Amino acid sequence: MTMKKTAITNVLIFDGSGGDLFQGEVVVAGERIVEVVRAPNRRQATVDEVIDGGGKFLMPGMTEAHTHFSWNDQPSLSAIQFMPPEEHILWCVEVAKRYLDMGFTSAIGAAEAKPRLDVVLRNAIAAGKVPGPRYLAGSQEITTLGGLGDNTLSHLQFDELNFGCVVSGPEEMRKAARRFIKYGVDQLKINLSGEYISGMPAELSPFSEEEIAMLAAEAKRHGKRVAAHARSSESVKQCIRHGFELIYHASFADEEALDMLEANKDKHFVGPGLGWLVRTSFNASAWGVTPAIAEKMGYHRELEIASASLRKMHQRGIRIAPGGDYGFAWMPHGTNATDLQYFVKYIGMTPKEALLSATRLGGEIMMRPDELGQVREGFIADVVLVDGDPLADLGILVDPDRIALVMKDGVIYKNLLNQQSQHSARIDRLTDEAAHEAVPA
Ligand SMILES: [Zn+2]
Repeated sequence: MTMKKTAITNVLIFDGSGGDLFQGEVVVAGERIVEVVRAPNRRQATVDEVIDGGGKFLMPGMTEAHTHFSWNDQPSLSAIQFMPPEEHILWCVEVAKRYLDMGFTSAIGAAEAKPRLDVVLRNAIAAGKVPGPRYLAGSQEITTLGGLGDNTLSHLQFDELNFGCVVSGPEEMRKAARRFIKYGVDQLKINLSGEYISGMPAELSPFSEEEIAMLAAEAKRHGKRVAAHARSSESVKQCIRHGFELIYHASFADEEALDMLEANKDKHFVGPGLGWLVRTSFNASAWGVTPAIAEKMGYHRELEIASASLRKMHQRGIRIAPGGDYGFAWMPHGTNATDLQYFVKYIGMTPKEALLSATRLGGEIMMRPDELGQVREGFIADVVLVDGDPLADLGILVDPDRIALVMKDGVIYKNLLNQQSQHSARIDRLTDEAAHEAVPA
């Protein structure tokens, strides 16, 4: 049996290698890219189908480094948690498609709102039952009594109210880790620091060393990575000491933490989740969090400090990946690529560096750098055709009308080339809100 061959011709190619853009065409056979041709050269292969890219911008599919599919675009963790499990998995299925339609072909699960949501979704996507990015499933957030994700009330001590999995002591940590590993997660998630909106300050690090060491030991025994909510400087250091690969936020990393990160930069990724800091600071008024309230909570100060430390991380060559905490009312799913604009504005990346962080670095964070994240011969055919030049305006990547074609594993999931306005009214509205955000100079 011969595989179907498709050529996407007449495109401007950003191949994710770090090199310059070039005019050319790409040939896909089955799930792989088999030729990347630079004009005026012509393809070698005889193809079954030719897609005229119409001069559009072809780039690798993007990776979301910190995804919560089960967050349901509500304004609080409790409102996410109160969704019944049956509706919740349907929600996850709907949202996963939204990511794919926005050009995200891979995603890392940074925590699920209920046990097994992520695993069930990952398996359904991998089996081709539902469309979505290839996915590495997360656990619930493992947290402490009173920490981020402990939503029980003092007079209503019901575990079911908890957004996270609350543990006390190494043995409970061991049990939680083994339970999520039993369910089949790819990475375990721990909340190593607080979070202003949860009531526990972001600079507080509530876990004991014994509890963290237990998680590290259990994860290693089973070959699982660990992802950490780590805003405080101490929590960043805990990640490095215990080998937790995925460090989320890292806002308050001090010079010692930066030195440790730099010395271990091949082991760790930092996912700052800047969208959360920016939008909570300036774009959440409609949900009662005015800029004045956000400032009082501590978010303006955290954004300022995070911006400074992330600039240093970028200069030191520490890997910084986009995405994070989309799925909240003021940062709905589908607007994730706004992070690339924040990377330019708050971290000092060039647009090209920002786009590489979403593509080539995505291959690395998915642990498949030799076949994901670039438009290159032999790589998996995850490609996105964009109407316009994202390097001139990264905002294009948040407009569903501009994401003209999405291919994952060589299969086309979205194609607007011959039809206009296929996007849903819902995404339209969300994008409009994103476009009205006011970010300070
Ligand atoms: Zn998160």
